[in-house]
Amino acid sequence: MKSIAEQHIQIYNSLSGTKEEFIPLHDNMVGMYVCGPTVYNNVHLGNCRTFISFDIIFRYLKHMGYKVRYVRNITDAGHLENGSDEREDRIAKKARIEEIEPMEVVQKYTVDFHKTLSKFNTLPPSIEPTATGHIVEQIELVKQILDAGFAYEIDGSVYFDVLKFNQSSTYGKLSGRKLEDMIHNTRETSGQGEKRNPQDFALWKKAEAEHIMRWASPWGDGFPGWHLECTAMSTKYLGKQFDIHGGGVDLKFPHHECEIAQGEAINNCSPANYWVHANMLTLNGKKMAKSTGNNILPDEIFSGENEIMERPFSPNVTRFFMLQAHYRSVLDFSNDAMLASEKGFSRLMQGVSLLNSIDTAKKTTGFNLSEWRQKCYNAMNDDFNTPVLIAKLFDAVKFVQNVNDGRESITKEDLNKLQVTLHNFVYDVLGLTKKEEQGVNLYLEDALNLLIELRNEARKCKDFATSDKIRDELSKAGIILQDGQQETTFTLK
Ligand SMILES: [Zn+2]
Repeated sequence: MKSIAEQHIQIYNSLSGTKEEFIPLHDNMVGMYVCGPTVYNNVHLGNCRTFISFDIIFRYLKHMGYKVRYVRNITDAGHLENGSDEREDRIAKKARIEEIEPMEVVQKYTVDFHKTLSKFNTLPPSIEPTATGHIVEQIELVKQILDAGFAYEIDGSVYFDVLKFNQSSTYGKLSGRKLEDMIHNTRETSGQGEKRNPQDFALWKKAEAEHIMRWASPWGDGFPGWHLECTAMSTKYLGKQFDIHGGGVDLKFPHHECEIAQGEAINNCSPANYWVHANMLTLNGKKMAKSTGNNILPDEIFSGENEIMERPFSPNVTRFFMLQAHYRSVLDFSNDAMLASEKGFSRLMQGVSLLNSIDTAKKTTGFNLSEWRQKCYNAMNDDFNTPVLIAKLFDAVKFVQNVNDGRESITKEDLNKLQVTLHNFVYDVLGLTKKEEQGVNLYLEDALNLLIELRNEARKCKDFATSDKIRDELSKAGIILQDGQQETTFTLK
């Protein structure tokens, strides 16, 4: 087993399209910026997957001994509908529909976001700045971009000049798009408004009389463009250049492309060294969308109040389900997949708790602990490959069961090491918790243990009619009892 300092992490960088060795800018410090939610709606499950993916990266880097400053913003202004510079602000629109203040919308859905993510046991970021809290910094950035000659002002709005930028750099290098193709594919003047070119994007927008969310600026009352806030906040808290910039794959273009352009325009360097994108979650093979009804909220999964799932699933099982896929793969959410994850999760946790009760011996047989441990690290070092890690954890669970059944043995020292490693990966790195299954299933586990105890008493008294009845009836209910040498355990069919 290599020491933590000798572990080399490879990260897939969307900018180069390859896996690269992770070398932080400053020794053991890591700066990570992740685009947070626009708080105008309940956070949906696809968004949760993105934030769980970055929670894993945050947890693993911390586990590896890095001091991580994780910045994840809250977009509470400036995010216009359909990413168009001509449409209504999402939060302002919601406020108009619900007849409340925009900041009430922001408060309501920020609370929902935090509550939901804490159910999934994601760690809070180090800093969670808001767009409206950084208007001064954004105005300053607009001035700098204007001074650098990469923006122009028209009637109180300021736009980034993409064509000008493309003369000295490459607009589209992150998403692999070519500016000529974009220009060619854009219908003349449609949605262009006052911009010189349709590809230009707003840094600052003039606020019309009815626009509530407005701030004074050198160009008159207005509000910042969506892409600008992330450049302002990442620069303020992580510097002009930092290590990791993340977000959902749908943000690659135009949002992250625009962030790169803004950063390069004022600093002559790309803001982040590693661009990391988490892939999307589909539901029953189709893209999740509110409009088609092919959509599910996390609370609807936990409560069981939905028409898609057979029964409720806990946040732990849902998190485990997500971790069974690599963060860069599309993942499909379905009732069957959740049932399978529930079984897997329960098997993993049983293996972990079985460690507390197995006996030790003079020799360890059938398991190479240090080799296994290194394989767990190798999985995570390979672009945070949680499904491979989980497969390795199941190798250990199988071994623990074999020890419990008397087929293999383990020394006290190895048992301690195994326990520490399993706890590190299951609780610290994967962020799964013991406080499963939030009520019902905990009681169920107590009730099952009581039945196992009664059955053991019946067997001692040679009352096999009762002991067989308990075993058979449980089996019919989908619960299989397994008699080990030291303990009887149960698994779900
Ligand atoms: Zn962003």
